[in-house]
Amino acid sequence: MMDTLLVTHAACLGHEVPLGHPEEPGRLRAVLRALEAEDFQYLQRLEAPRASMEAIARVHQPVYAEWILERMAREGGGRRFLAIDPDTALSAGSREAMLRAAGAVTAAVDEIAQGRAQNAFCAVRPPGHHAERMTAMGFCFLNNVAIGAAHARAVHGAGRVAVVDFDVHHGNGTQSLFEDDPAFFYASTHQWPLYPGTGRPGERGAAGNVVNAVLAPGAGGAELRAAFESEVLPALDEFAPDFLFISAGFDGHAADPMAQLELGEEDFAWATRALMEVAGRRCGGRIVSALEGGYDLSALARSAAAHVRALMGA
Ligand SMILES: [Zn+2]
Repeated sequence: MMDTLLVTHAACLGHEVPLGHPEEPGRLRAVLRALEAEDFQYLQRLEAPRASMEAIARVHQPVYAEWILERMAREGGGRRFLAIDPDTALSAGSREAMLRAAGAVTAAVDEIAQGRAQNAFCAVRPPGHHAERMTAMGFCFLNNVAIGAAHARAVHGAGRVAVVDFDVHHGNGTQSLFEDDPAFFYASTHQWPLYPGTGRPGERGAAGNVVNAVLAPGAGGAELRAAFESEVLPALDEFAPDFLFISAGFDGHAADPMAQLELGEEDFAWATRALMEVAGRRCGGRIVSALEGGYDLSALARSAAAHVRALMGA
């Protein structure tokens, strides 16, 4: 058994969305309910602190961060929602949810760096991987995983930091933040073509530090495993990270309404174990995973549970 940490906060349920919006609080409720099962009785649990502005500002322009965090209070004018784009809206609870979501990832890094856990899963929302330095989009406002990665480097001396993103969508935000810095590595498997339209295989970063392995609509576990074995894992191993992050989106599940991949829970568990194997050899198994997408509540809950069970070494 690994010492695995679950980091979350009830405030992440308080980021409300308009009726019918897929990135709803029920997603996180479903994940947390699944993690109450007896399999998870030995999970360590930590309530997420708020991310500091210092941590956020390593990734986002401070003017943007202040704008996105304060906009609802300043401009909401009593409205329930304030749209940033047609997919992405703020509610009264969004500020606190964003701070706790990013803070979960930095706290997980602190716990692991200080030897109090081996790896961690941050059950948080809003998700982060579409958020760029100065842009909220695709249900994302602050790039939680990128904030954690920058924190690992700045505070804990991790020289080389990798993010592997198996969400069905390309993490344009994370790639844009990392692609010019050879000390960061970003690898994504995603359906192609699909929102947001970035992540072509030819996008390799300034120093070959970006890997985009695309999957055709209808691709399933065999194609995911082939993409991992031929592209993601060898490049990650060669990069030799000091700390590994996972953007854990489960919207590639066959039951998910947002895309057309045919993955099952066992594929997410397999990918998790494959990443743990590289992390075990390269960085003492230090992994922080954070929830990104996943919109079929039952498939999301089962997939997140399979992912966490794998992180626990079960
Ligand atoms: Zn997604």
